[in-house]
Amino acid sequence: MPRVGVLALQGDVREHERVLRALGADVVRVRREEEVWQVDGLVIPGGESSVIDKLARAFGVRDAIVQRIRDGLPVYGTCAGLIMLADRIADGIGGQRTFGGLDATVRRNAFGRQSESFEVELDAPALDAPPVRAAFIRAPVVEQLGPGVEVLAALPDGRIVAVEQGPLLGTAFHPEVTGETRFHARFLERVGG
Ligand code: GLN
Repeated sequence: MPRVGVLALQGDVREHERVLRALGADVVRVRREEEVWQVDGLVIPGGESSVIDKLARAFGVRDAIVQRIRDGLPVYGTCAGLIMLADRIADGIGGQRTFGGLDATVRRNAFGRQSESFEVELDAPALDAPPVRAAFIRAPVVEQLGPGVEVLAALPDGRIVAVEQGPLLGTAFHPEVTGETRFHARFLERVGG
């Protein structure tokens, strides 16, 4: 059985582990460089991208993650995890870096104060019915997609909140907190294949 890692530096690690285990995956936490090399897929959780960035450098896992993404590792990022996957970041803090891989700009904290957190039903045709129950928590949006990036879901106003580029999957929202398992299942399919 393929082994999937959850990057466990900061963020909602446990919620991802729960969904992945419920789907039958062999799940390990990734915190050290050697663990980066031992997984067949990686989930980057939600949390705070500037903190994940700093800790990834402090723990010495950054370069290995960047390398594995370049080599085609399936990765699923939610919210801060999506930010970490983006090649370009808007509204990052000074010096903030991402792992990159996804040819898109991701804008941090894209929703105003009054709607920092909200839940909506999203149509995601690629996942089939029913719509996705999506929880947004100080969420980013995806802008300026490269030609290889496919949109999986957008808000009714057109803002893009779920994308895929080959083995990379990213959602601005948190399926792991609303009982939505189809994105994780899609990620596991990439890992298995
Ligand atoms: N606003 C956070 C960031 O910039 C992301 C929030 C989240 O992951 N729920 O990283």
